Amino acid sequence: MVYDLAIKNGLVYIKGDFVKADVYVKEGKIAAITRNDLEAREVYDAKGNFVLPGFIDPHVHFKLRVANWTSVDDFYHGSVSAAFGGITTIIDFIDPASSVKEIEEFFKNRLEDAKDSVIDYAFHSTIANPKDPAEEVAKVSKALGMASIKLFTTYSNTDRRTYDRYIDDLLTLSRNMGFVVVVHAENDEIIKKYEGTKILPKDHSKSRPTIAELSEVVKLAQMSVYRDGQLYIVHVSSGITAKEVFRRFSDALFENIILESCPHYFWLDETFFERQDGKLFLMTPPLRSLYERDLLRENFDAIYTIGTDHCSFTKELKNSGEYTTEIPQGIGGVEFSFVLMYTLFGEEVIDRFTENVARVYGLYPKKGVVEVGSDADIVIFDPRAEWTIKDHHSVSDYNVYEGIKVKGKILSTISKGKFLVKDGEFLGEKGWGRYLERKEIYW
Ligand SMILES: [Zn+2]
Repeated sequence: MVYDLAIKNGLVYIKGDFVKADVYVKEGKIAAITRNDLEAREVYDAKGNFVLPGFIDPHVHFKLRVANWTSVDDFYHGSVSAAFGGITTIIDFIDPASSVKEIEEFFKNRLEDAKDSVIDYAFHSTIANPKDPAEEVAKVSKALGMASIKLFTTYSNTDRRTYDRYIDDLLTLSRNMGFVVVVHAENDEIIKKYEGTKILPKDHSKSRPTIAELSEVVKLAQMSVYRDGQLYIVHVSSGITAKEVFRRFSDALFENIILESCPHYFWLDETFFERQDGKLFLMTPPLRSLYERDLLRENFDAIYTIGTDHCSFTKELKNSGEYTTEIPQGIGGVEFSFVLMYTLFGEEVIDRFTENVARVYGLYPKKGVVEVGSDADIVIFDPRAEWTIKDHHSVSDYNVYEGIKVKGKILSTISKGKFLVKDGEFLGEKGWGRYLERKEIYW
């Protein structure tokens, strides 16, 4: 047999170890991992660099329509930027739906939005205080390949809040029906204290305080343990939350509760909001104190997956208002998430970008591992390189990580056997990405 592609002389990441081996690809799949010399049409010399599974970002917002704004990276530009960051799969969201009918409609719209993506994509179903029973919502979401259902515990002011009685129903159903309850957890009552007041960016953290996240996450974790549910908390922002969940629920962590966090909570802190250009950093949940940022680093063991919450805007849009309600929330980051986290934690971040995400979201073993039979989604990574973040491929005209010195460089990114990025050059094509159905998830 002649293989399509051979990746030679690399250190292949297999089950937490690095193995000297060559990887052979045939028809988009990994067909052999061996030290034997086999015949291939194309040979790539990995030169002793790491050969990693393609990264999966479980939390992005490309072309997100929210209030009067649309995030500026559409699925084409966002996915190109992601490919430069070694990401070969993203999970985005449908618009928040308040009925089964809307779930179906919004899913169709999102498929249309995503068709130019250069990397594979899945969606989380997303609900907003739905009127249909939880079982119906779960059934329809799963049938569309969205076996993860996202909800908000806040934003009651725009009727996006899903209430505890409904969350309890979802958690109760989640393990038997095989889906994940994905939650943006902030205590709505506490946040309401500040509703209707004008908040400057420098006061953003105070208006959505850590206690709002902490109290909501602890309550939901308790509910999930009680119902033996499958609960996934997105964008944990504070080390206080991570530490407390670890302390109280260590037995249930990774069984009933999974915590995700984002690179910005490990790298930035609330003093960024006080800067002259503080608006450019605005996102929700907000950045926290330096103490909480460091505590998050210390409690990295509690964090199972890393998502970026990539939701980028231009300077002009970010500067269009004075108060937090007048400024679109969100920052970019898909291109630098892995190197930022690798710089802090080294090799222990790899699973949090690959196998952990694939297992949690029903993509394993098609995605997340370098194994015979898996999709040939591969990243060639030089662990020795040191460089300073500067240019990026997002549509946005600024980069919150500019100037940060990082360790390790993504040299090439391969999706289903095709080079999207080869030694820094973009070779991907519009529409190469495919929708990934996730019909059932059991942790
Ligand atoms: Zn988000």
